[in-house]
Amino acid sequence: MDRQIARSARSAALTGRTGRGAGSRMLMILLLGATAITGVALAAQSRGFDLTDPGSWGRGRAFVDIDGRAVAVPRPTPATGRVLPAVPVTTSGRHAFVHSTTDGDPIGYDPCRAIRYVVRTDGAPAAGADLVRDAIAQISAASGLAFVDAGTTEEEPALERTLIQPERYGTGWAPVLIAWATEREMPSLAGDVAGLGGSAMVPGASDEGQWLAAGRLVLDSEDLGTILTDPNGYVEARAIVVHELAHVVGLDHVDDPTELMNPTTTGIVQLGQGDREGLALVGAVACEP
Ligand SMILES: [Zn+2]
Repeated sequence: MDRQIARSARSAALTGRTGRGAGSRMLMILLLGATAITGVALAAQSRGFDLTDPGSWGRGRAFVDIDGRAVAVPRPTPATGRVLPAVPVTTSGRHAFVHSTTDGDPIGYDPCRAIRYVVRTDGAPAAGADLVRDAIAQISAASGLAFVDAGTTEEEPALERTLIQPERYGTGWAPVLIAWATEREMPSLAGDVAGLGGSAMVPGASDEGQWLAAGRLVLDSEDLGTILTDPNGYVEARAIVVHELAHVVGLDHVDDPTELMNPTTTGIVQLGQGDREGLALVGAVACEP
């Protein structure tokens, strides 16, 4: 696909289309935006009362539509503060947030609770576990967000993910899903698309505030497998996973060739100054009470 087309293409279902090259190859990374997730899964969000939780009567309660049923937004687990310290903002550069408040403040994951993630390892390259581990370590260190490995899963990646899956994951938000997939299973990975990532923006349980939840990151096992055969393939592939995971925690693209969140490849394989500023800020949002 032509580089200019890759940079400019957008659709209702997939926003933030990325062109990204590795060597002579042109790879694209797709960002799953709010349109794809909230437009479907959160269609019935409304204010009301949770009849299964009499203690909540008289207090605001947010609901989301889960497979056609209005389900009360999960109350967060008790917390006494951040899991990890906030990361001081020590760099400055271009950065953007996928979701932000009307004041322009970022919307991110609740830093007082660890972000649980599960991995579907089917089709993963031999270096897959190392790539995921290294990318999570980089994003955690730059954002001050904590991640917890919640094991493996058989959940199939889908553009329209069910945000709460009680039988599979319990009654809270579904954990972040990290999956390897082929173009045949995930048509959105067709051609030079190397991966896609994003999270849902959800209301707080008391219908106050907004956070990210139930993210997903899908990696093209064929494209990344090919990259990994290059001499510098591991760091190139890791940069793609880090880029996608940055989308999951709330960073959007910026047109700056010195940043990892640039829409086209520039040979940058490490987080840039603006990437780091953005990650520190998105990791410092208020906690849900
Ligand atoms: Zn991207």
